Amino acid sequence: MKYVNEYRDPELGKKLLARIRRNSRKHIKLMEFCGGHTVAIFKHGLRQLLPSNIEMLSGPGCPVCVTASSDLDKAIAMGHLPGVIVTSFGDMVRVPGSASSLQKAKAEGADVRIVYSAQDALKIARENPGKSIVFIGIGFETTAPTIAASILQAEQEKIDNYYVLSLHKTCPPIMKAILDLGEVKLDGIICPGHVSAVIGSMPYRFLAEDYRIACAVSGFEPVDILMAVDSLVEQIESGQPRVDIAYRRGVKPEGNRAALELMEKVFEGGEAEWRGIGVVPGSGLKLRTEYEKYDADKKFEVKVSPAKESKGCICGAVLRGVSTPPECKLFRRVCTPERPVGPCMVSSEGSCATYYQYGEKRG
Ligand code: SF4
Repeated sequence: MKYVNEYRDPELGKKLLARIRRNSRKHIKLMEFCGGHTVAIFKHGLRQLLPSNIEMLSGPGCPVCVTASSDLDKAIAMGHLPGVIVTSFGDMVRVPGSASSLQKAKAEGADVRIVYSAQDALKIARENPGKSIVFIGIGFETTAPTIAASILQAEQEKIDNYYVLSLHKTCPPIMKAILDLGEVKLDGIICPGHVSAVIGSMPYRFLAEDYRIACAVSGFEPVDILMAVDSLVEQIESGQPRVDIAYRRGVKPEGNRAALELMEKVFEGGEAEWRGIGVVPGSGLKLRTEYEKYDADKKFEVKVSPAKESKGCICGAVLRGVSTPPECKLFRRVCTPERPVGPCMVSSEGSCATYYQYGEKRG
């Protein structure tokens, strides 16, 4: 198949569904890691179309949602420093921290600006030489190379007022952490498409080899997802887990060498705190010593009080696949996209926002 429309072909979808129904006998739990997959699965009604013995769980693949309150509190504190402009992707601005949000900080006088890329933040740095510009770097391996490129460009142009608060996270270590927690017994994982376009499929091999978990990298069209589920069913039923790429037009086993080199030049692995999961060694990306002058954490040593989570919000359990949004007592009644209590309702890729828009209603 060459064209994206072919991945939306209802006839092909029906054939794949028929095969999945025919081949799938065991009760299995599959986790779609990526928030983009959760949205696609709900939008196309795939949960309802799949046989009832296939349980789909959403995972921690929404960058806004997994950002820890303590990190957000730090970004808010930086926004209150004199002469600092905090720049952030839009969704992040609305996420409630322990006591405030970037949006509230802005209303209180902090200079907080929404940007669409690290390049936008760099432009603000060029235009405001008397100010310090902090870019809140969130996201997985998909966005990290672009942020690495912005740091290299700042170095090349000798821009000395641009700083990155690196809250980036990496996928394979958190998949391992979720499995090691042992709270959910997974049979298969739908691996993220965009992340895998950068890292390839090889970093997931330990899941099949050490944990006996079936893996399939998927794209974001309905046929892509059904192809991934079809592969997972075949692997599980045959008892032979492996890492399959059901997204050949976007992902190569070895990934994107140029993007990986860019990321590895600027960042190195470090620990990261994940909402609802805690600190996971090796799951973050920290600026290498050579680039530490761009590290907002080192430049602005702000102290924040221990983080507090919003009362009643179960985002952490939702991100671990232990609970679903309708199990939250605040879902729809108190927490809505207009008045979000937790990040999973703020982000367009958050499970709560997705359930709210496409999913189950609670009485
Ligand atoms: Fe948190 Fe709202 Fe989701 Fe409940 S519905 S888990 S309060 S974001």
